[in-house]
Amino acid sequence: MKILVVNAGSSSLKYQLFDMDTEKVIVKGGCERIGIRGSKLTHKTEKGETELEQDMPNHKVAMQLVLQALVHPEYGVIGSMSEIDAVGHRVLHSGGDFDRSVLLTDEVLAICKKNAELGPLHMPANILGIEACREVMPDTPMALVFDTAFHATMPPHAYMYAIDYDDYKNYKIRRYGFHGTSHKYVSQEAIKYLGKPANETKIITCHLGGGSSVSAVLGGKCADTSMGFTPLAGVPMGTRSGDIDPAVLEYLAAKKNYSVLDCVNYLNKQCGVAGVSGVSSDFRDLTKAAAEGNERAQLALDMFAYGVKKYIGAYVAAMNGLDCLVFTAGIGENTWQVRKMICENMDVFGIRIDEKKNGMKNDGALHDITGEGSKVRVLVIPTNEELVIARETKELLV
Ligand code: ADP
Repeated sequence: MKILVVNAGSSSLKYQLFDMDTEKVIVKGGCERIGIRGSKLTHKTEKGETELEQDMPNHKVAMQLVLQALVHPEYGVIGSMSEIDAVGHRVLHSGGDFDRSVLLTDEVLAICKKNAELGPLHMPANILGIEACREVMPDTPMALVFDTAFHATMPPHAYMYAIDYDDYKNYKIRRYGFHGTSHKYVSQEAIKYLGKPANETKIITCHLGGGSSVSAVLGGKCADTSMGFTPLAGVPMGTRSGDIDPAVLEYLAAKKNYSVLDCVNYLNKQCGVAGVSGVSSDFRDLTKAAAEGNERAQLALDMFAYGVKKYIGAYVAAMNGLDCLVFTAGIGENTWQVRKMICENMDVFGIRIDEKKNGMKNDGALHDITGEGSKVRVLVIPTNEELVIARETKELLV
C-alpha cells in the first residue's frame, strides 16, 4: 500500500510517499514560494535530488507538479497516480470536533472551514492543500490528521481556562495543544523502549523546535500540554513569547500604538529567544554566540531551559511521578547544551543524564542518555510526524 502525506503551509507544500508494507519513504519533497515569484519544487529519492524551478501561482498547480514529479519517466517513483492508495493531510486544528483522524467527506471539510478561524495562520493553507489535492485526485481516499487530536484526552481541569463558562461553551475558548502527532509518536516509541504496559507509564515529551511544546503523557494518553488555544502559549520559542501576562497587551498597545492584532503578531514573530537575544531564533546561532560571550544569547538560552524545566516540574506534579523524559524535534534532537541545561539540578525528580551520551551526534536513531543513579529514563527520540500521518491514514482505510 502506498500513501502520500501532504503538509500544506501558506506558501509551501511538503510531501512524502510511503510504502506502508515496509514503512519506508519512497520519495520526499516540497514546493516553496507558492504564489510568490521564484517558486521551486525539490524532489528527493534514493537515486538523488531533482530541483524544478517553475511558476506555482496556487496550491492546485503545486499539487499537479508534485503528481507529475511522482510519475515522471526520469525521476518519478510510480507508474501512475492510481498506485497511490490514499493521501494523508496534516491539519492544524480539530476545533474539538474530532478527537482522532478522519476520512475526508464534504461534511468534514465544512467543519474544518468553520474551524479555520481558530488557526488563522495555518488552517486556510491546510484547507487549500486539501482542496487542491481533491481536485487533482478526485477518486483517491483522503484522511485528515489533526495536530490537536492527541491532546483530546486531556481532562477538563487541564484544558479549561478560568473564564466565564458560557464563553468557553459559546466560543470554544480552551486549551487545545499542538504538535500532537509528534508527542504521540515519541511517547509510543518511548513506551516500546521502556517495555512496560502503556497504562503503567508516566512520560513527559519535550518537542523543542521552531515552535516548542511539552506534554504530560499518562498511561499512553495526553494528560496536559503546554501550548494552549493557539501555538503561542507555553515555553518561550524561536520568535514566540510563550506564556505572558495577558494584561501586557493593553500596556503594549498603548505604548507602541498597536491594535490587538499587532500585539498578537508581535508576540508571535518578534519575541521568543530571537527577541531576547537580538541574535537569532536559531539555536545553532544562539549556542555559538553564548559560547563567545554574548550575554543576551546566554540569557535567551537560560530562559528557554528554565521555561521547559518549570513545565517538567508541573507535569511531574500533575502525574504524581515520572518514568521517562523524552527530547525531540530540531533542538531536542540536536542541541545537547539545551538538554544539559534542562536536566541540570533535577535530582529532586530523580533526573540525571550522562554527559558523554548526551554529547552524541543525532544519527536519526533513539539515544538513551540516562545517567548513573537516575530514577527516570531520559531519551532522545527523532520525531516522525509524517509516518504517524501515514499510519493513521492506513488505519482508516483497512
Ligand atoms: P520546525 O519544524 O518547528 O520549524 P525544527 O524541529 O526543525 O523546527 O527545529 C528547528 C530548530 O532546531 C532551530 O532552532 C534550530 O536551530 C534547531 N537545531 C539545532 N541543531 C540543529 C540541526 N543540526 N539541524 C536542524 N535544526 C537544528
